[in-house]
Amino acid sequence: MVTRFLCSDDEGYTSFWPPNAVMLAALLTLRMRLAACVLVACFLLNLLVNRQSALSPPESLLACVLNVFLVVLAAPFTRRFCGAMTNLTRPRRFVAFTIIAVLAAAVEAGAGTTFERVVLDDPSEQLGEWLQWVFCDALGLLLATPAMLSVLRYWEGRKPHRNGPAGPVILSVVSVVLAIFLFSFSRSSFFLFTYPVLVLLAFRASAGQVLTSIFFVSVFTSALTAHGLGPIARLSPDGHLMRAAMLQPYLFSLFLTAVLVSNASGENRRHTNRLSLMKQHLEYAATHDSLTSLINRRRLRHILVSLLVEGSPGAVFLIDIDHFKQINDSLGHHIGDEVLKAFSKRMVDLLACRNAHIARLGGDEFAAIVPGHFTHEMLDVLCSSFADGLLLQPYILSCGERSVTASIGAAFFHATDAHLQPGEIIRRADVALYQAKRAGRNGYCLFSAASGPPSHGQADPADHHATTGP
Ligand code: GH3
Ligand code: MG
Repeated sequence: MVTRFLCSDDEGYTSFWPPNAVMLAALLTLRMRLAACVLVACFLLNLLVNRQSALSPPESLLACVLNVFLVVLAAPFTRRFCGAMTNLTRPRRFVAFTIIAVLAAAVEAGAGTTFERVVLDDPSEQLGEWLQWVFCDALGLLLATPAMLSVLRYWEGRKPHRNGPAGPVILSVVSVVLAIFLFSFSRSSFFLFTYPVLVLLAFRASAGQVLTSIFFVSVFTSALTAHGLGPIARLSPDGHLMRAAMLQPYLFSLFLTAVLVSNASGENRRHTNRLSLMKQHLEYAATHDSLTSLINRRRLRHILVSLLVEGSPGAVFLIDIDHFKQINDSLGHHIGDEVLKAFSKRMVDLLACRNAHIARLGGDEFAAIVPGHFTHEMLDVLCSSFADGLLLQPYILSCGERSVTASIGAAFFHATDAHLQPGEIIRRADVALYQAKRAGRNGYCLFSAASGPPSHGQADPADHHATTGP
């Protein structure tokens, strides 16, 4: 209706006819029966609005029938060569769709002009009429179908990438308002400034927003031109065919410019997204253990440095499974992997409420940093709870149930230890772990600074060792 009432000149001609895109989009995206209903509804509406135009009733009926013919002809080829719900502006599909639209419109217009000449005895110039008809319908399909499909995709929930909500919307509005403004005055050639605004929009907005803006720019510029306003109407005073012949390339070049820029910047955006995903993936791989998904030694040291610099106190625990090699040797490496994963999961569950950082340092050795003030008694309690939580319940593996034991070494760090290297604190916990192993495994040991200088790593198993386990 908008195209018929707004964009038709006094002889009933329009520079482009976008309503066919609705029928084509219906044929591409809806089930057959529903699409047929849309076609019938569009046909009837088309007949109704054509009655209000300067077209004679037979011409009007012919135009409606041929519009349906055009989309029925174009739909299978579009589906075959461009897909159904795809973005038709991507380079290969765009070329294919342009060829399909032009060829289908050429066949349709050929049938139309022949019918007019033979049956309706129309004396008008045939070639000029045919060309105008081809470009009118081809341009209508080209300008409106990708926009229709992009709106449908948006509704379907497959929202395109956006570059911030406000900027592109403002630019879209500016481009349409500017086009209306520049085409409202006949004596200015500033209408060429529509290009930079649309190019800017194509850089900032999604393909759907660009297509919709171009569509509205086209509707308004063709409406104003059809009513004798704007520079193109002024440049072509000798009738509608000349006017359309100038407006059509103008609209197509606007469309082409914006689509090419939009494609290029979309491609850049996709590359950037892919790179940032790869960066995230690499960062994850560099700081996490691939088997258990726990953080690795590097990340653990980093966290420990931050805590020391902040002056936060806490404790470091090193936990090593006893005789793990035997599990590998007797049950196989894959069962060993299952034990490591189940063991790490239990550690995570056990420390979930303590804001702890849990790492796999390598092999069967794990570490946990638990922030907070600890007394020896509290550490005793925590180590016992480790032993209970980690070791008492057997692990359910693919080869059956299996229990393991582990040895734990623990070391404090205090708010005053900011001068210490993280390696030193881990080394203290390692010394304690070594003591626990030496004391017979299946137990824990707390590093005691009082029992020797840290560099010699004296732990005091007599004071702190306790055997636990299943
Ligand atoms: P200890 O009681 O003294 O800790 O002896 P252990 O048998 O547990 O031996 P240790 O901790 O020194 O060695 C750990 C073994 O874990 C050595 C290696 O074969 C095995 N291992 C290392 N990485 C993996 C892994 O990713 N998967 C499996 N299944 N085994 C591993
Ligand atoms: Mg071990």
